[in-house]
Amino acid sequence: MNMSEPTQFNTEVLRGELLHDEPMSRHVSWRAGGVAQHVYQPADLADMQTFLQQVPADEPLMAVGLGSNLLVRDGGFRGTVLLMVGALTELRMEDGLIYVQAGVPGAKLARFAASNNLCGAEFFVGIPGTLGGMLTMNAGCYGGETWGVVQRVQVLTRSGELIERTPQEYQIAYRQVALKQHSDEFFVGAWLKLAQGDVEAAKQEIKALMEKRSASQPLQMPNAGSVFRNPTGNHAAKLIEGCGLKGKRIGGAQVSEKHANFIVNAGGATAADIEELIGEVQVTVQKQTGINLHPEVRIVGEKVK
Ligand SMILES: Cc1cc2nc3c(=O)[nH]c(=O)nc-3n(C[C@H](O)[C@H](O)[C@H](O)COP(=O)(O)OP(=O)(O)OC[C@H]3O[C@@H](n4cnc5c(N)ncnc54)[C@H](O)[C@@H]3O)c2cc1C
Repeated sequence: MNMSEPTQFNTEVLRGELLHDEPMSRHVSWRAGGVAQHVYQPADLADMQTFLQQVPADEPLMAVGLGSNLLVRDGGFRGTVLLMVGALTELRMEDGLIYVQAGVPGAKLARFAASNNLCGAEFFVGIPGTLGGMLTMNAGCYGGETWGVVQRVQVLTRSGELIERTPQEYQIAYRQVALKQHSDEFFVGAWLKLAQGDVEAAKQEIKALMEKRSASQPLQMPNAGSVFRNPTGNHAAKLIEGCGLKGKRIGGAQVSEKHANFIVNAGGATAADIEELIGEVQVTVQKQTGINLHPEVRIVGEKVK
């Protein structure tokens, strides 16, 4: 990737960590892919505001949580990545609501809710992403969805302005969220409203959900969870398995033998291997069933020329 004229940042006023040409394979759960030109992990919310004020308006900017739904192509991401995990980590009770910042992982949030005698957040335990990624994807499982418990969110605009928004300002659907009026913003926190519950029951539920996951998902190999959205009234995994694609391999990428909607990095996979296998699965399922599968995972960056 030709990293011509990289952006210059005034690091004297920043308290976070700025990295250059950082391999994104270190930050995504597939453990594959190219480099990002700049990666900034803010020290906290105020530091992220200061940083954003320095970023040129035309610089491509992307927030990354735990990278559990993300692939950066092998040619890299020409722009700046804002690393939320380990950065925006506040989690506390505030006027009967949970205030949680964007970098907090789902498992931590689920356990915090349970220990405060609140129920309805148990499902977060099995989603290996951050609150920011879960808000972006409307992540969910076993009947729960992220936006189902959101009272309001806190966002930062590209220019560093802090705003609160309500769920009514977003178009929220299955694994999709968009602001009704176009905008370029990052989720930095949310207030969650949960019902009072039984802490022991919530802890049991968390344990049961974890066991269910490890029985059905290939968690020992790098992956990004479900690759495709479930088509209405159908299951992507069932369709892929029905087309005989379990175990199908391109380079180091393989359709999981354990869960057909997972693609695993079976060793040394490139982003190109993974993307090619995604395409191969789509073409085969379309040919055999007439159904178009749409990726749930986000693919960004440039291909190697
Ligand atoms: C083993 C496994 C199991 C999974 N199970 C589930 C499941 O049951 N249900 C489910 O829904 N998903 C599941 N996933 C997918 C994934 O965990 C979710 O999509 C999760 O919400 C992604 O969070 P993240 O922090 O990793 O986001 P990332 O992968 O880092 O980012 C995903 C997208 O969100 C954007 N983004 C991230 N943070 C912010 C922010 N603060 N502001 C604005 N945009 C942001 C990124 O730019 C990117 O476009 C699974 C993944 C794995 C690996």
